[in-house]
Amino acid sequence: MTTSSRDVVIVGGGIVSCLTGYLLGRNGFKVTILEADSVGSHASGFAFGGLDPLTGVGLPEPLLEFSLWCYGRHRTLARELQEQTGIDVGFELRDRLHLAFEDEEVREDKANVDWMRTVGGFNVEWVDREQAMKLEPQVSPECQGALYEQSPGALEPYRFVLAALRAGERYGVEVLQRRATGLISEGARCTGVTLENGKIDAGVVLLAMGPWAGEASAWCGVDIPVTPLKGQIIRLRSETNPLALAVNYKGNYVATKPDGLVWAGTTEEVAGFDENTTSAARDGIMADLLKMIPGMDDAELVQQTACLRPLSTDGLPIVDKVTGWDNLFVSTGGGRKGILWSTGMAHAMFELIQQGQTEVSGAEHLRLDRF
Ligand SMILES: Cc1cc2nc3c(=O)[nH]c(=O)nc-3n(C[C@H](O)[C@H](O)[C@H](O)COP(=O)(O)OP(=O)(O)OC[C@H]3O[C@@H](n4cnc5c(N)ncnc54)[C@H](O)[C@@H]3O)c2cc1C
Repeated sequence: MTTSSRDVVIVGGGIVSCLTGYLLGRNGFKVTILEADSVGSHASGFAFGGLDPLTGVGLPEPLLEFSLWCYGRHRTLARELQEQTGIDVGFELRDRLHLAFEDEEVREDKANVDWMRTVGGFNVEWVDREQAMKLEPQVSPECQGALYEQSPGALEPYRFVLAALRAGERYGVEVLQRRATGLISEGARCTGVTLENGKIDAGVVLLAMGPWAGEASAWCGVDIPVTPLKGQIIRLRSETNPLALAVNYKGNYVATKPDGLVWAGTTEEVAGFDENTTSAARDGIMADLLKMIPGMDDAELVQQTACLRPLSTDGLPIVDKVTGWDNLFVSTGGGRKGILWSTGMAHAMFELIQQGQTEVSGAEHLRLDRF
């Protein structure tokens, strides 16, 4: 079978793949997604769904510009996907309280308020305990106060993956439920992908394998420094009032989601590719939840999930052509913010494949050769 340079094979069926596939398909590329399990069945389908461009690794430097680009695109994409597919990804503006209990945490939060206030479009302020409890009466009276962030967003990750996939399918994107096992090449050209049984020809290959991207280092002879970082979330049924906003403390969060359940997380575990839930994680998350919201001690556990974030060595995404190859690309490393960053990662990759360079703000920080 002959392939054209507009035939793109994407290895992996997470959000990065589905969104990139949608953009490519819409612009006339013939796209095939190879997914070993089922689309969205790993981190992309089970993330918390917070979209906060101001906090976390890489912020404010070097990724503030990129994060704001991604956030802005979420706001338009949610509508666009609904028009295309009828699927509501559940995008909403959701205020957040980042609680501070210790003096050092108060100092840190206040310092963050100083730079966050300079970012247009977000209202951020320090609130004392009384104000925090007025905003959300269930937060712990032990806290000293909170960084109050207005208008970051949230969405429902599984619906987001599904909507991106369905939108792509309208433009001919196909999914093959097959595991890729390697690459076929002629010199610096990748001409296809080997499968568990068989092969598929390709004009362009994109590795969007999430935390498994490191495995492709051996396929292409270039180090892709990405490993899995396990995270667990619990979903609870509580008789208390729904939380009015999202509440955070250090790396932990809790919110009442549109399904009516209270979602709380999370863990950061180096556990290889193990995706099993553990009772130790459940107890740890529950303890952190009760530190934030003490009144939820009678909440009933409904579900516990575990999945793997793709974490690069410096915690930032990798979106680039693979060094030394003509037509092999990689997009991974979203870490704890891969749902937020997926819009920018997908758009940057689409532009790299289509025109060899990208205009997405801040995407110059995502190059593979920085390692
Ligand atoms: C507990 C938790 C909470 C999170 N919360 C948030 C949040 O609130 N906000 C946020 O922005 N981000 C969040 N994230 C991060 C986000 O979920 C990830 O960064 C993002 O989903 C990664 O997407 P991906 O498409 O790169 O990878 P994945 O979703 O892992 O998809 C990769 C896919 O590739 C497939 N694959 C791998 N190897 C092969 C192969 N050889 N052949 C075929 N297919 C293959 C896999 O089966 C998988 O389906 C969270 C993550 C976790 C774990």
